[in-house]
Amino acid sequence: MKRFKLHWQILVALILAIIYGSFFKESVNYVSWMGDLFIRALKMIVIPLIITSLITGVTNVGSSKSLGRLSIKTLVYYISTSILAIVTGLILVNIIKPGAGFEISVTEDISKYSIVKPFKETLINIIPDNIFKAFTSENMLSIIFFSILFGFFILQVQKKHRDLLTDFFSASFKVMMKITLFIIKFAPLGIFGIVAKVIAEQENLLDLFKSIGLFMVVVIAGLIFHAVVTLPSILKLIGRTSPVRFVNSVITPLLTAFSTQSSNATLPLTIEAVEDNAGVSNKISSFTLPLGATINMDGTALYELVVAGFIAQIYGIDLTVSQQVIMVLTALLASIGTAAIPMASLVTMTIIFTAVGLPLEGIAIIMPVERILDMCRTTVNVWSDCCGAATIAVSEGEKLKV
Ligand code: ASP
Repeated sequence: MKRFKLHWQILVALILAIIYGSFFKESVNYVSWMGDLFIRALKMIVIPLIITSLITGVTNVGSSKSLGRLSIKTLVYYISTSILAIVTGLILVNIIKPGAGFEISVTEDISKYSIVKPFKETLINIIPDNIFKAFTSENMLSIIFFSILFGFFILQVQKKHRDLLTDFFSASFKVMMKITLFIIKFAPLGIFGIVAKVIAEQENLLDLFKSIGLFMVVVIAGLIFHAVVTLPSILKLIGRTSPVRFVNSVITPLLTAFSTQSSNATLPLTIEAVEDNAGVSNKISSFTLPLGATINMDGTALYELVVAGFIAQIYGIDLTVSQQVIMVLTALLASIGTAAIPMASLVTMTIIFTAVGLPLEGIAIIMPVERILDMCRTTVNVWSDCCGAATIAVSEGEKLKV
């Protein structure tokens, strides 16, 4: 009920923002500060959220000693399907170019955003020479690297210390999630401020809407391709399972994912369907599915990449090949770090934007369609988790019911 309410609040905020931005261009500064505050709050939470979510994720995988082989298989599946999704998005956004026909008019000097670091330097910088400097300069790749390293070495210390740190970070992660949810409650106000400003700055609104329409087509086409061609092929070829029969057995979690826009909220239903209807053992489903809900987000990865490509096109920023490679890598890392809750991509998208030098304000442009695309990408996220559980179960010698 609460989520439903937020959905309507956002819709009303958007309509009001469009009206306000169109008719009160001069007084847009009276409301644009709400957008600034909202973006500041998102940026405030992104680093602690990613650190705690990654450390918790890594300690969860590593603590199940007997599941070593399973962990590797699971990670290989998660990473490769996410990369396949990202590449699908990259190809589509480069071919269709949804933002190419439209150049946004900005009042702000955006050249400061497009300072591009050489690829080699970006790679070297993944290892920070000063981790505190990495935190303050928002160097996400270094922060992610350090968090994974930290999580890994938590598992190497004495049990007493290991338990203490694991508990500490999983408790902190819960707190960060609560803060994120709290910030998301202000989304209608923030979105109102951001969108009103964007609209007020536009001379050619119709073109903007046309571009957003095409952007949606690219995202949805990519998601459909991944869900209907890529994942079923893996399920059929490696998991030796009929995709049609399998999808029937998990239709309830898929519909729940679509309506709740949260892989986490859907998780109990996913586990139930994959075990009871598809016949995957509890050993495999209880390991792969919670982990998948947290780190395996194919739909989110594809979406975040298309958003970055689209926004670059709209701002007239030409991305070099090395920037596109960085986009692929950061989209993968961002999707891993995305919390499995509605609109969480909004936060982690800033990683890709910062890495390739895109203006964060650009995120506001896609806000009008964020909800509907969240429904679609969350469904694909959960579908990939389900296919993963089945494929891994079969590879471990299990016989499914479907
Ligand atoms: N809503 C997505 C999920 O829960 C995450 C996101 O992309 O915002 O899977």
